[in-house]
Order: sequence, then C-alpha cells, then structure tokens
Amino acid sequence: MRLTIQPFTVHKRFPLTISRGTTAKNTNLWIKIEAEEIEGWGEASPFSVTKKSSINSEKLKQELIKIIPNLEKYHPLQRQEIESILLESKLNSSLRAAIDTALYDWLGKKVNLPLWKLWGLKDDRCFSTSVTIGISSPEKAVERVRNWLNFMDVKLLKIKLGSPEGIEADKAMILAIREATPHLPLTVDANGGWTLKEAIVMSDWLAKQNVKYLEQPLKVGDEGNLPQLYQRSPLPIFVDESCFQSEDIIKLSPYIHGINIKLMKAGGLSEVMRMIAVAKTCKLQVMYGCYSDSSLANTAMTHLAAYADYLDLDSHLNLIDDPFQGVSLKEGKLSLNNLAGLGIEMRQEA
Ligand SMILES: [Mg+2]
Repeated sequence: MRLTIQPFTVHKRFPLTISRGTTAKNTNLWIKIEAEEIEGWGEASPFSVTKKSSINSEKLKQELIKIIPNLEKYHPLQRQEIESILLESKLNSSLRAAIDTALYDWLGKKVNLPLWKLWGLKDDRCFSTSVTIGISSPEKAVERVRNWLNFMDVKLLKIKLGSPEGIEADKAMILAIREATPHLPLTVDANGGWTLKEAIVMSDWLAKQNVKYLEQPLKVGDEGNLPQLYQRSPLPIFVDESCFQSEDIIKLSPYIHGINIKLMKAGGLSEVMRMIAVAKTCKLQVMYGCYSDSSLANTAMTHLAAYADYLDLDSHLNLIDDPFQGVSLKEGKLSLNNLAGLGIEMRQEA
C-alpha cells in the first residue's frame, strides 16, 4: 500500500477553554492509504492530557515518516503485521488511530459496505451527542448555551469546570446555566481541575443541579484518591485523561462508573472495540469523546455509537472550516450515511 500525509488546520467558531488552557485552532493530519485503486482515510489530531505534555502535528508527521517504508511493504488486509509495526515503533496513539481508521475505511470500501453495517450494528443510524460549554464567565457561558440551542436541538450539555479561579467560579457558571435552561440535563467535565476535597464538595453540590455524571474530577497521577471519591460521591465518576487503553480500565474499574473512550487516545477503532468489551465486562458505562477532531475522526467513532451510553462527539460542529463531510446533523442527532467505509467525502464548500 501507499501512505501519504497531509496536514490541515481547522479553526473553532468559538474558542474552547478547559482547566488546562484555551484552543482556537488545531493542525491535524489527514492520512491516506491506497491499494488496488481504493483509498482509505484517517485523521490524527495532536492532543495532551497534562499541561506539560504536548505534541504538534509537525512532530507527529516526522514520527510517521520514519516508518512509512516499513508500513508500505504490507497490503491493507495484513492488519496483524501492520499493528505489530505500529506498536513496536511506539508510534503516538493519534497516528496509530489514523492508520487503523484508514485501514477500516479501505476495507469498507473494498467490500462496499458502511462500517456500521460491516460490523453488524443496528440500522438505527441517529445518535444524540452532548455539546460542550467551555470555562468562562457565567454571562458568556449562557451566551454559548444560547448559541448551541440556536444551532441545533440540544439534548445534553457538557459543562467544563475546574476553573483556575476555583470552585466558586465553577458554581457561578452552573447556576447561570441552570437559570437559563432549568430542564436540560448536564454532564460535568473538570479535566482534572479539582483536589479530592473539592471534588467531594462539588459532587454533593452538582448532584442537586440535574447533573448526570462527573468526568475526570481528579488530575492525572491522582488516581490513588479515586477509591475515596468513589465512596463519597453521589454522582457517577467517569475517567478520561486517566484512561487511554483497555489495560488502564481493569485497574481503575473498582473505583469508577464509566470511561471516556477517544479514538486518539485508544490508537484506533480496533482498540476502541477492545475497550468497549473490557468496560462492559467490568460493568462500566462508556462514553465517546473527542479532541479538536474534524468530521473524519468523529464519523469514525459514530460508526460504533450503538455501543455507547453517551456520545460527546461535538468538536466538528464547532469548526468553521472542516474539510470533510461525513456524519450529518438530523434533528439534533448525529446521523450516519449509507456510503461504503467511513462514508467521508470532501466538503463541497471547502
Ligand atoms: Mg474529558
């Protein structure tokens, strides 16, 4: 097979602030494999889970270029050999995700089936996703909620907390949103912005605000406090930054209620499927999340949406220049098409 890499930059309509900082744009990599005149597409979007760890698309590109000659020896059906190379070369998980996704896209096109159909999933192709409100002043947060409500039929709001200004600022944001939309259910993602004590206080308080669950309350490295939080928290606890792959699930499972699976962390749709299986075996709930991913990666994850308890695949909905068109919005839900593979095309107006 032949492999090509093309960087592309996407800009957010509304910059997003979380506990670790603000992003307004992201340069991601579009990875194409080609064999037998069929192309398979994947996306790598650089991400970080702590303030210190960061990688950009240029570094990712250089990492991948080194192993292209090794990968190009194989045919897209030789998955096992390709997966071995990806793991042995310790390639960044977002690059592995892009290649694995491209291999599935290729396979779907080869057998002329959309991936959801190839995997035998239900012919119910519309799925609700939460939409995200970043950290801001209470007024700005309400304005952003109104923007989303004008844009689509919102069923679930995900509120970023863990404000650098402390939990009183977090509470003020929630109270303003509650006043503007008293009935819309919320989920909360602190992105590791709280101490154990703050997490316990906030869980008690948020449980009275129609919040469904709490995502990553404690920072990466503070997993030792999860057992205490698990005992004290009235809200279900989901982990995101603390859980990359299936091996992470087993050690955390006694102290959490769910996990946030992301294509870029997992390193591919194959690993996403393993994570779903492990999480379900451990009786955990699963949600799917995203970074600054375009429609390409979010469509790939939507193909597995039938297995999810919650979707949080909204990053592409906040882009002004998404080059791709895949999953579309129908009555506020993500809707998969019937095209072969991922069902991704170039967006006409791009
Ligand atoms: Mg998260």
